[in-house]
Amino acid sequence: MIKSCSTGKNYYFDAQTAVEALIEHLGRNNFSHGAGPINVYHCNMCDGYHFTSKGERLAILDDPPVKNRIEKLRQASEWEGRYR
Ligand SMILES: [Zn+2]
Repeated sequence: MIKSCSTGKNYYFDAQTAVEALIEHLGRNNFSHGAGPINVYHCNMCDGYHFTSKGERLAILDDPPVKNRIEKLRQASEWEGRYR
């Protein structure tokens, strides 16, 4: 069962799950620099985690292995037919 939150945002059970989802999300959407979510935060309303585009950029997003993964996901979604 998926809990939902009155913020209407996607709910993630814990920080690690949220970060994983964030990496996937960034890989599947080609955000321009400075756009899109950059971190996750704990929500007091649902006691879960959500994405945020405000505040500090999550340091792990700039780790080479993580950057690599995001880049690979981007390439994969292009091969899935995102281009015309
Ligand atoms: Zn919430």
